[in-house]
Amino acid sequence: MRSLGVGVLAWVLVGCGRSPSPLYPALEGSIGMTHRGVLTGSMEIPSEGPGYSFLRDNDRHHATPRFAQALVRAAAHVEEQRPGSVLVFGDLSKATGGTLLPHFSHRNGRDADLLLYATTLDGIPVASPDFIHYGPDGLAFHKKKKRYYRLDEEREWLLVKALIEDPDAHIQWIFVHRHVKARLIQWARASGESPELIARAFEVMAQPRPPGGLHDDHTHVRTTCTSEEVLRGCEPFGPARAWLEDPLDAPPPLPETSDAELVAELSRPLQSAGAPARSAAAAP
Ligand SMILES: [Zn+2]
Repeated sequence: MRSLGVGVLAWVLVGCGRSPSPLYPALEGSIGMTHRGVLTGSMEIPSEGPGYSFLRDNDRHHATPRFAQALVRAAAHVEEQRPGSVLVFGDLSKATGGTLLPHFSHRNGRDADLLLYATTLDGIPVASPDFIHYGPDGLAFHKKKKRYYRLDEEREWLLVKALIEDPDAHIQWIFVHRHVKARLIQWARASGESPELIARAFEVMAQPRPPGGLHDDHTHVRTTCTSEEVLRGCEPFGPARAWLEDPLDAPPPLPETSDAELVAELSRPLQSAGAPARSAAAAP
């Protein structure tokens, strides 16, 4: 009986992570959740392209084609705006997804670690040398190189802006330390960015709770599932973003009410406020 119990438990645990099989032929792309999922039909970020490089030459630069292209597009956009900019990619996912230590997530092509844009102390843009921890003053000390680097708010903000303004990127989160977030929001406000854009950035950027790491040395960008991807096995979780033009992200529609009904509603005398608020005709 004991072995049967263990067997059932193993089946339940394995059964949680869906993957393509003859029973589920329609599953493809980003399947499951970011912390228990797999990836099919992935795209590897090309080893060379405008405005980016890899921190390490390994097999961890795969994502869904939609997300990979959005990241490449954002890096190219920053390079176009500020020639010579280099976005350094850390880990994304493996070609078929699955566990990617030491990360909890990165399992189904929806997560990317991006090093922060850096300058020298004199303000000369350089490719980020490694995961280096920026303090509230925007400075990071590289122990091996025995050198300080400065957070490049200008380029980092251009990247954040490019990502959250790209409708195909479907950015749900940019996990980053609150000090970095504060500096980027401050930069955006000083640059005269619109309140709507700043509100989006404020919502999307968040410092993760332990044990996920403070993210004062990189950003972790996550794309959500589009409604089309959900049909193929992507399991969304966490908040929807109201500005994304997708049924999954849009706020619930307002009840259909004709102009005449609205006028009647607004014109109701105050003494009838205790009466039922809506007529039967206004019910869905
Ligand atoms: Zn990460």
